[in-house]
Amino acid sequence: MSATKNPRPFRRNTLAVHAGEAPDPVTRASAPNLVMSSTFVMDEPAGFSAYDIPENAPYIYSRWSNPTVQQLEEKMAALEGGEACRCFASGMAATSAVLLSLLSSGDRLVMSDANYPGTAELARNDLSRLGIDVVTVNFSDLNAVERAMSVNTRLVWGESPANPTMRITDIAAIADIAHAHDARFAIDSTFATPIATQPLALGADYVIHSLTKYCCGHGDAMGGAVLASAEHMHPIESAGQIHLGGVISPFNAWLINRGLATLPMRMQAHEQNALAVARFLESHPRVLKVLYPGLESHPHHALAKKQMQNFSGMLSFQVEGGAGLAPKFMEKLEVIHYAVSLGHHRSLICWLGTDDLMKSTYHLAGEQLDAYREFAGEGVYRLSVGLEDPDDLCEDLARALD
Ligand SMILES: *Cc1c(COP(=O)(O)O)cnc(C)c1O
Repeated sequence: MSATKNPRPFRRNTLAVHAGEAPDPVTRASAPNLVMSSTFVMDEPAGFSAYDIPENAPYIYSRWSNPTVQQLEEKMAALEGGEACRCFASGMAATSAVLLSLLSSGDRLVMSDANYPGTAELARNDLSRLGIDVVTVNFSDLNAVERAMSVNTRLVWGESPANPTMRITDIAAIADIAHAHDARFAIDSTFATPIATQPLALGADYVIHSLTKYCCGHGDAMGGAVLASAEHMHPIESAGQIHLGGVISPFNAWLINRGLATLPMRMQAHEQNALAVARFLESHPRVLKVLYPGLESHPHHALAKKQMQNFSGMLSFQVEGGAGLAPKFMEKLEVIHYAVSLGHHRSLICWLGTDDLMKSTYHLAGEQLDAYREFAGEGVYRLSVGLEDPDDLCEDLARALD
């Protein structure tokens, strides 16, 4: 079911299995080939510039395009309802490709004030060093976003649900603000996945995923993706992909492509398990606060219900003892791994301390710090609820908390 063959409007579960793939014309293999070749034999001379690769050019060199990576790109595009997709070596490679392709010295970037730490640090430290004016605001405060816009604002960058507060961004509202100021809006949709939210349909211009997380789903390959219209993708292809060069290995693309086939099913199970664990934690006497978009108690539950078709498997919670409990979690948890990353079939937990993050990464003060603390307090345990039996997960947490 190659996207180039003008596919029927198949439904999502079918697209997850078949989009981008077709039986091999020579061997009739049903599963996709893994093409590890870095270069391809040419039938006619081709240019050496990223700027004159014709539409529908044959495969030339795997930093430009590779058949296995292209299968992944077609599947991601089908799932997100995007015209174009480009895949990268990691979520950060996808993120830096977008930021460095679109922004020039003197441009303003308006970014959410609490998001994935790698992105936050890249913007605040490296982009600032290159002369880009980085302004960070609380994206739950639409007036603050509006006030941050200026004539030189070229890009607005959000993340929903956001790491680690689990705040939900109103994608349609922020897209309207960005477009009213002739800026483009990019959203990191890693926590949501294409199953929960399709930001392009809500008005976003760029969607970014760390494929390392839910899309791969098994914790064994790193990757990233950018989705956009073909027109908006052009600068990302030449500058971000071909020149910055953070391309994905075909082997990792092949693994992630296989992971995507079960993404719709896995997300249903992640959501069910996360809701069960969230309700258990909410009822535990030592737990101070649980932040899960699917709980009625989440401050953005109404927005989450409107914008998300699945509440995903990520939650954060505050607990008596805070950071002090981490060694106990490391020692006592038998099922849940104490580790960073998320979206795997294995449950993963880690501590994100507010003071530490403020000092190293976010540097918030005043109202913005207060708004952050309203969600995260002194810090949260971020729990990526996996696909184990939810009763085993709750019992694991109960043992560690008592
Ligand atoms: C993990 C993550 C990233 C970075 O992805 P890598 O694949 O680790 O480079 C970016 N954004 C979010 C929301 C993430 O969770």
